[in-house]
Amino acid sequence: MRTWGGIPAAAGNITGSMSLTDFLGKDYRSALGVPVVNVPGCSPLGDNFTETVAAVLLFLQNLAPLPKFDELGRPAWLFEETVHRHCPKAGYYEEGVFAEEPGDNQCLVEIGCWGPVVQCNIVERGAINHVGGCMVAGGACIGCTMPGFPDKYSPFYKSPPGSAISGGLSKVYGGGIRRLRRMSMKTGNREPLWDKTDEVPSGWEGAKDKRAPVDKVNAYFYKKLQYRGSVNHAERNKKQPLPSSRDILRQKGVHAQRSTNVRGERV
Ligand code: SF4
Ligand code: SF4
Repeated sequence: MRTWGGIPAAAGNITGSMSLTDFLGKDYRSALGVPVVNVPGCSPLGDNFTETVAAVLLFLQNLAPLPKFDELGRPAWLFEETVHRHCPKAGYYEEGVFAEEPGDNQCLVEIGCWGPVVQCNIVERGAINHVGGCMVAGGACIGCTMPGFPDKYSPFYKSPPGSAISGGLSKVYGGGIRRLRRMSMKTGNREPLWDKTDEVPSGWEGAKDKRAPVDKVNAYFYKKLQYRGSVNHAERNKKQPLPSSRDILRQKGVHAQRSTNVRGERV
C-alpha cells in the first residue's frame, strides 16, 4: 500500500492495491485516537516523514501544540504550497521563457511539468541531505505526491492541458516584462561615473563606452518614475569631481605593459 495507492493502484491494477485511507476508511482511529496521517511522495522525503512522526508524538506527549493537518490528513505545513511557488525556475515561467527539451535551463512546463498545481515541498527541502529535488536537477514534476497520481498526470512529459492558457499568457506579458527588465539592467550595469564620462574602462570585449540614444531616452523616463518624490543619487553623483586615479597605468606612461599577456607576449 502506498499513501494514495500510487502506481500499484493505477489503471489496469489487478492486485487490489489501494491507499491506507481507502483500506481503513474514515472512521478509523489509532489506539491514540489519530486518524490516518498521509505523508505522500514517491518515495516520501525522509525529513517529511520523520518530522511528521515527531510532531505527532510531541503533541501526544503534551510537549507541543496540535500540528495542522489538511482535510486529507497531510501535514499542512509541509504540503499546503505548490512546488511551483518555490521552484528555482519560477522566474523563467514569470518571464515566459520555456525549455524545449530536457536539460534546458528554463521552465519545464511545456515539456510536462505539473508543478503549478502540485502540492510538494521537494525544492525547498531537497531530495537527499537537503540537496537536489526534481526541478533543481532539471526534472519536470509528474505529480507523484498527489492522490490523482499517476493516472491524472499521465502521459508524462507532455505539456499539461492548462499550461496552454497560463503559459501562453505568461509568454505575452512575461515577454514585455522581460524586455523592460533588460532595459533596467542595462542602466544598472553602468557606474554613474561611466555615464558622466561616456567611457567604460573595462578591458573586456563587448564593453560599450556610450549608451545607445534609445537607452538614454528610456533611462530618462524610467528615472522620472523611479525617483518621483525621492532623491536621485545618480544625479547627485554628476556634481562630484572626477576621481584623479582613473586609468592610472596610462597616466604613468606604462600603457605598453597592458598589451602583453602573462607570458610577456604581445596581444
Ligand atoms: S519547472 Fe514546473 S514548477 Fe518550475 S516554474 Fe516551471 S512549471 Fe513551475
Ligand atoms: S515529481 Fe513533483 S510531486 Fe513528485 S517529488 Fe517531484 S516535484 Fe514533488
